Amino acid sequence: MKVWLSVDMEGISGIVERSQLLPGELQYERGRQFLMTELHTVLGALKLEADVSEIIVNDSHDGMVNLLWDQIPEGVRLISGGTKALSMNQGLAEADVGFFVGYHAMAGTRAAVMDHTYAGQIFRVRLNGREVGETGINAAVAGHFGVPVAMISGDDKLCQEARELLPEVVTVMVKEGISRNSAKLYSSSETSNRLFGGVKDALARFRGSELKPYRVPSPAEWEITLMTADMADRAMYCPGMERVDGRTVSYRGSTVLDGFRAFYTVMALTSERPLY
Ligand SMILES: [Zn+2]
Repeated sequence: MKVWLSVDMEGISGIVERSQLLPGELQYERGRQFLMTELHTVLGALKLEADVSEIIVNDSHDGMVNLLWDQIPEGVRLISGGTKALSMNQGLAEADVGFFVGYHAMAGTRAAVMDHTYAGQIFRVRLNGREVGETGINAAVAGHFGVPVAMISGDDKLCQEARELLPEVVTVMVKEGISRNSAKLYSSSETSNRLFGGVKDALARFRGSELKPYRVPSPAEWEITLMTADMADRAMYCPGMERVDGRTVSYRGSTVLDGFRAFYTVMALTSERPLY
């Protein structure tokens, strides 16, 4: 069994605000330690399962160079670095089953730690009419390749969002959001126990064929609402993009993956960072 992990950072226990999340910020190195602790717990649990033959970890946060390569256990493969065509989903096409670790709720969720959808300029994404965050978007890309998501970890709001979308997925709640920048945390040992139990349950469900890939019918309609009309103007540089209203554009993907590429193009076009 080939297991693939997409590891984000906002949904890691101990993380509650921006200063822990971005390189150069005061508490980033501490945040990174929290990230590695949680990853080691999940990898440790996976390694106890005899039928797990391969583990691929995709660094899925910000510039995607957060995970410390020299602390990756033997036998595990790490995908490190940005500018990957599938972004948070890089490497999943080779896997049998996917895990989302350290994930967070979609943009606009109340009392959810660092809620957003891929980037700050994205106000809302609808996929075939349904509002989705990173969980829905990435589960849909995984579904395109026939890969089911077995486990997802993050705060209570993330877990609720995931269960509504993927009823069979195992959710591991590692903190409870109080506001966007505060949460009730559990001890490190309680967090580890929760993750250990989650991995075991998730693999049992996968072996029992209880998990289904999240398949979005084609063509897939992506509706993207940006923060400003200027961003929507720039999004229109993407071939095939249509204007819905001042801040909203839409794209009809021949497949959900085709639409994901257009969505990612919109993000590149609307990024605050200079393109050149
Ligand atoms: Zn992130």
